[in-house]
Amino acid sequence: MIVISISEEVANAILKSKKNSCAKLQEKISKSGKPLNKKVKTKIVLNVKQETNTVNTENVLAFVEGTDLNDEIIVITAHYDHLGKHDGVVYNGADDDGSGTVAVIELAKVFAKAKKEGKGPRRSMLFMTVAGEEKGLLGSDYYTQDPVYPLAQTVCDLNIDMIGRLDKAHAGDPNYIYLIGFDKLSKDLHDISEAANKKYSNLKLDYTYNDEKDPNRYYYRSDHYNFAKNNIPVIFYFNGVHEDYHKETDEVSKIDFAKMEKITRLVFHTAWDLANRTERIKLDKK
Ligand SMILES: [Zn+2]
Repeated sequence: MIVISISEEVANAILKSKKNSCAKLQEKISKSGKPLNKKVKTKIVLNVKQETNTVNTENVLAFVEGTDLNDEIIVITAHYDHLGKHDGVVYNGADDDGSGTVAVIELAKVFAKAKKEGKGPRRSMLFMTVAGEEKGLLGSDYYTQDPVYPLAQTVCDLNIDMIGRLDKAHAGDPNYIYLIGFDKLSKDLHDISEAANKKYSNLKLDYTYNDEKDPNRYYYRSDHYNFAKNNIPVIFYFNGVHEDYHKETDEVSKIDFAKMEKITRLVFHTAWDLANRTERIKLDKK
């Protein structure tokens, strides 16, 4: 429990022992124009009733089997849940994370198409949209505790969470993306990511949030983290937050599709290299 809100009625009951009230205090504040602190000692009884509901949901997995290195898996993830419905208002979550979910479906499509045309990847590809991210990374937690393909054979996870908008720091400049986590477990992954960008995308790769000391701690806040926790190298693709973040106004009309496509292509080229190189990327650190 983090926050307890009380009504004015309860506040007045607490203040009564000091012959005070919210109205009296408000008057003092108005007169002095300064905020006021008051310490009141009182006994409070708090009844907490917690209700637990069981809700069923599922991760959605699509698999493109590789050729000669098919027992090794590259995972691409995005979460398909958002915040649900509050007071009759649906939170669609177009950027968070409709953008990532759409990217995963497009990537699955092109890998499947390549395979159909006899040019499929050497390693196997697992495209997974996960549930319950907003409730605490639950879908990816479930998958990594009960994986369909062995985690030891899982080469990396590329996680896409918010790629359709701009943040304040890049207003008017859609040619960027924040990458997080890319060098924490494997230098090879970092090098592949940079090479793919240099050769095909030329996006500004912003590493601000990769800093361990960054107070936002984004590295721990999306589904890739459950893979990283299991010593699987990850990259988290993220455009940063904006005024519609976690609001009902996160709508599809505000999505910058050209930007989204550019980032999805970068994920594709990175994944393509990871899937087809002869040497599996090395794990440097645990
Ligand atoms: Zn998200």
